Amino acid sequence: MNYPGMTLWFTGLSGAGKTTIALGVLHEIKARNYRVEMLDGDAIRCHLSKGLGFSKEDRDTNIRRIGFVASLLSRNGVVVIVAAISPYREIRDEIRCNTTNFVEVYVKAPLEVCEARDVKGLYAKARAGKIHNFTGIDDPYEAPLNPEIICYTDSETVEESVAKVITALEKRAYIFTPQNSAVDTN
Ligand code: ADP
Repeated sequence: MNYPGMTLWFTGLSGAGKTTIALGVLHEIKARNYRVEMLDGDAIRCHLSKGLGFSKEDRDTNIRRIGFVASLLSRNGVVVIVAAISPYREIRDEIRCNTTNFVEVYVKAPLEVCEARDVKGLYAKARAGKIHNFTGIDDPYEAPLNPEIICYTDSETVEESVAKVITALEKRAYIFTPQNSAVDTN
């Protein structure tokens, strides 16, 4: 299969729904037999970016590392799914320029909604001053200006958000519907 590869980059506040939607999309793309790899921001911080903190410089380094790995994989025919807050627009745009078939998904939910979800208990800690430089509280989040896809997770279900992403990829011919799949069935 001569598949060109692509990078699907989920950005948004903590708790916006990046990992949840990315896992749903991963599942769907795997089922279509594409080579797919997920790079999750939290997991990368335990390995490739272990020791990095949350200063602007360290955040930029972390995101550039993820972007570098994504570019290597996607240029070799892999569907790469990245789920990372990636708060700074300039770095995301830099990665866009260096990466094959970059598709940005803005996972959008109001701060109050993310804070109410508080999936990892981090907003409470940030409000209590126990952690610092937390995106949305005492560190900025720069929303994408022209993302290919926006998932409004305060009004869409997870299933609707996943379907929206898959449909957008099919429309751009980055993946094919199962009946036209490029998978070798011989
Ligand atoms: P992030 O990876 O952005 O930090 P998570 O995916 O870990 O966020 O958590 C998002 C939370 O929001 C989950 O508990 C998920 O069930 C919930 N949620 C509600 N609606 C949606 C939606 N439409 N898309 C994604 N997550 C949603």
